[in-house]
Parts: sequence; structure tokens; C-alpha cells
Amino acid sequence: MAYVITRLCQRAAECVEVCPSDAIHSVEDDPEWATYYINPEECIECGSCEAACPHEAIFHEDDVPDEYQGDIQKNADFYTTGPGA
Ligand code: SF4
Repeated sequence: MAYVITRLCQRAAECVEVCPSDAIHSVEDDPEWATYYINPEECIECGSCEAACPHEAIFHEDDVPDEYQGDIQKNADFYTTGPGA
């Protein structure tokens, strides 16, 4: 795991545009998976997405606020048991 997109995400897409490793993905029209997600296997921890996000929704895993800790697992689940698997 590296950077994590939290529930604050409004799908503004700036992160997708700046990510150098195409590590950020989403699915359309699925309320259960409503935000963008970062593939921990592809993220190189450059920090570009965190800087670009207009909603300050992205954090390094070590810096995710307590109230959004559950989003770390949610990001991982997207790529293991979710639509990104
Ligand atoms: S930290 Fe860099 S490589 Fe990782 S998801 Fe963000 S922009 Fe992409």
C-alpha cells in the first residue's frame, strides 16, 4: 500500500491526469465503489496525486486521518475482491 484515496474523493480526476504510473482507477455507476482508487502494486509513491487533488482527499497511508482509516482497506479491497480485481 502507498497512497490512499479517502471518501472525501469527488472524482475530480486531477489525480488520474497526473499519475505517472496509471495507478488510479474507478468504475462507473456503482454506488458501492463511488470514489477513485489507487492500485498499491502500481503506485510509486511520487505524491503527485496528493498535491493535485482539489478536495485534499488523498493521503500517504501513514498519514490517513483516524476517521478515514477504513478507506485504506477499501482501496485494497477494490483490487482484490472488488471491481478492480
Ligand atoms: S503517489 Fe504518484 S504513483 Fe502513486 S497513485 Fe499518486 S500519482 Fe500515482
